[in-house]
Amino acid sequence: MAYYQRELAPDIPPLSARRPLINEYFLSAYTMSIYTGCELGCPYCDSWVFNERPLNETIVIPVDLPQRLDNVLPTIDRGDLIAISALSDPYQPAEQEYRITRQVLQVLADHRQPCLIMTKSPLVLEDRSLLQRMNEHSLAIVVTTLLTLDQHLATRLEGRSPSPQLRLEMIAELKRSGVPVGVALVPIIPYVNDTNLNLRRVLHACAEVGVDFVIWDYLHIPNERHRHRISVLLSQLGSYPPRYYRDVYRDQATVNLIYRQERDRELLQRCDELGLAPRAPHRLFAGKLSPRNEVALLLRHAAFRDRVQGREHLATLHRELADAVFRGRFKASDLRQSPLYPTIGPLLGLSAVT
Ligand code: SF4
Repeated sequence: MAYYQRELAPDIPPLSARRPLINEYFLSAYTMSIYTGCELGCPYCDSWVFNERPLNETIVIPVDLPQRLDNVLPTIDRGDLIAISALSDPYQPAEQEYRITRQVLQVLADHRQPCLIMTKSPLVLEDRSLLQRMNEHSLAIVVTTLLTLDQHLATRLEGRSPSPQLRLEMIAELKRSGVPVGVALVPIIPYVNDTNLNLRRVLHACAEVGVDFVIWDYLHIPNERHRHRISVLLSQLGSYPPRYYRDVYRDQATVNLIYRQERDRELLQRCDELGLAPRAPHRLFAGKLSPRNEVALLLRHAAFRDRVQGREHLATLHRELADAVFRGRFKASDLRQSPLYPTIGPLLGLSAVT
């Protein structure tokens, strides 16, 4: 068991700075984390890189975080979503005892601030009524990670986390309670959980349980320390090609472009066949975020599909427009270049006519 250290941090801002670009995965303008450290300690987690001490040994309990958040929320836009998605699981074992996440959600609910919360733990079900009420008044989405349905592989990749089966049951329960749920196939680890069979099985399970959307991204290897951690993980999993890093990572932090494009294409096609949204669908956030955020997300999500399906010019246009709209520095004439204009123009108070 980890060591729990209660801490007051009156001078630490509870939220990140407002993001320069909207986060298209989590719909967020701000990020926050609840606990520092994560007892689940998944070996692939890049939070290991940001902690001085081993990620899963000391968990800092921010007892004054709800109060700090309450102080700061009046200063931010009600149409900006806060993602509780950074660096630690908000429903890790410490939550059972300290309930900081529940208090934070209550503060967000009191201010009607939209939020998205990312967790692997069914402990979130104990807050489902609160989340359901939050979603009625503003927006509250739960995202859970699902890397594989293979219990043997899951145990080796994230043995301290709830099993894939428990997470699927958690999704079904949240859906029955009226809480929107997304699944993050993150990270896709080359040679480990990137086989067609594994990806197909995960997406199929997502469709069966009725998730609202899926997102995916690839293993990130930000530095040598993490590279070493991943090498150890791979050696424990089996025998992997010695050219692993050179082939797929080419000594960079992320997978190479060809690998990404091939997997993105396969995953998008599979999602379309299963009727799964590959990003949060508009119906979840329509009218619940500021119009600028709503439009920026529609454009970013369109840019993703454009890129994967090879419409490079449109992808660039949509990305640039999304970023300009999010920052509030856009021209109506530029927006009219997009085929989405009849939808996004009126959202920004412009005429629907191009
Ligand atoms: S649960 Fe999430 S934050 Fe915690 S170690 Fe695993 S991947 Fe990292």
